[in-house]
Amino acid sequence: MSVTLVGAGPGDRGLLTLKGAEHIENADVVLYDRFISEEILAMIPASAEKISVGKHAGSHSMPQEAINRLLLEKARQGLRVVRLKGGDPFVFGRGGEELEFLAENGIPFEIVPGVTSAIAGPAYAGIPVTHRDYVSSLHIITGHAKNKKIPDIDYEALVRTKGTLVFLMSVAAVDAICENCIAAGMDRNMPAAIIENASLNFQRKFLGTVKTLASIAHENAVVSPAIIVIGEVCRFSGRYDWFSRKLQDFHSRFTKRIIVVRGKPGASRLSDMLGELGFQAIGIQCFSIVPLTGPGCVLEKIIAAIQDYSWLVFTSSVGVNVFFDYLIHSGCDIRMLGSLKTACVGSETEKEIQKRGIKVDYRPSEYNGASLARGLAALVKKGEKLLIPRAKAGEEELTRILVQEGIVFDDVPVYEKTIDMERTRAAVSMATENRADFAAFTSSSAVECFAKASAGMDLSAVKAVCIGERTAAAAKSYGMEVYVSAQATVESMVEKIKELA
Ligand code: SAH
Repeated sequence: MSVTLVGAGPGDRGLLTLKGAEHIENADVVLYDRFISEEILAMIPASAEKISVGKHAGSHSMPQEAINRLLLEKARQGLRVVRLKGGDPFVFGRGGEELEFLAENGIPFEIVPGVTSAIAGPAYAGIPVTHRDYVSSLHIITGHAKNKKIPDIDYEALVRTKGTLVFLMSVAAVDAICENCIAAGMDRNMPAAIIENASLNFQRKFLGTVKTLASIAHENAVVSPAIIVIGEVCRFSGRYDWFSRKLQDFHSRFTKRIIVVRGKPGASRLSDMLGELGFQAIGIQCFSIVPLTGPGCVLEKIIAAIQDYSWLVFTSSVGVNVFFDYLIHSGCDIRMLGSLKTACVGSETEKEIQKRGIKVDYRPSEYNGASLARGLAALVKKGEKLLIPRAKAGEEELTRILVQEGIVFDDVPVYEKTIDMERTRAAVSMATENRADFAAFTSSSAVECFAKASAGMDLSAVKAVCIGERTAAAAKSYGMEVYVSAQATVESMVEKIKELA
């Protein structure tokens, strides 16, 4: 039984603390305020109960007493309760009031401080809240008080400090705040800024002076959540506003739509990376995988005679998955593979093997069947036999060279790839009708699939970004406009796309 008060930061998911994230991920119940960003709410596990206690369009927030009661009730049920608050829980977050109540009721609690919008907001607008040459104090003030009364703020005292003034909950009070500062003797030309939705993709920032800020805020219909910063430090904003520049870049790229044509199932790292950079990445998986491991399959006989083999050779991560799934589901003991050496192509395939606690003895640096076959020819001893569980109708180059080298092997089809025509055709029409800016191909088989689904359509309008020369050659052969990444890696693909976009 415990309650943890977690500060969520101003919105950007990256500004949540590691400790905060850990509590959220392990929570049974999360009570959260208004202004918790969608990205952070998405971290709450699906199994946890999510309760919004903040204000919603038009309606009122849950009264503090009701929140307190709910916290108590959930904690007493023995649940791990997270009370998630924007920014830092103690900076105008009523964290203190909630703790008092928990303490009175003997509920143990923890506090995870957060990055307050009062400091992070200005930082995301290029405003350092203190600067040795200009200010020697920072004041965080609320523009809103209990029971809607005008807060009792001593403006004369504030203005005398010559410090940076940061006002939270102040959108509705912007006129009053600026007028009061001037009335208290502040220079009308004192720089000021208002930052709306700080740290989020849709952040807006407006600069002015204490004289002009209110009308600028009204003209631009600034809404809550926003913070007002008044002080000399606002001068730096033009020069240091790194985030607006990043956003501009982000928005210009966001309009770019990239179809990521995949020849493999599973998560696409390329789509994820592009998405994070703000591209609109549409992943199209053009294959369906059909395992050929049903009752009476070839693998059944092979496994019964596994001692005849010396090498286990994989050419794809799908092959690894299907093979090991079969072993496990048919009740085999993994130790039967103990004496076999392993070889594969591709780092993804190697990773998939390693996940089973098995080290790979040989992987050629090049990602193709011919290199694998040649490398194996030098390693395989006389009398050793290879087991190659792979796709039906897999690459012929591998087996052709093995035969040539006099190596004994069994090429065992464990799965079959079939083209998902409907899905792939949708990708083709997007790319040919200019509804996507680029089509990204991470294998030549993805290109082949794409071309098959195009059923003879003119592909010359397709701007294809390809992972390596082989993929590029395939795309060229179908008349596409081809761009090749410098290296055959996903990272290099991303660089190429950034360069082209
Ligand atoms: N505990 C919070 C503040 C709660 S009061 C913190 O430490 O940040 C709520 C006020 O915080 C809002 O009215 C607004 O002034 C400010 N605020 C919170 N998130 C903000 C954001 N992303 N951008 C601008 N202001 C924000």
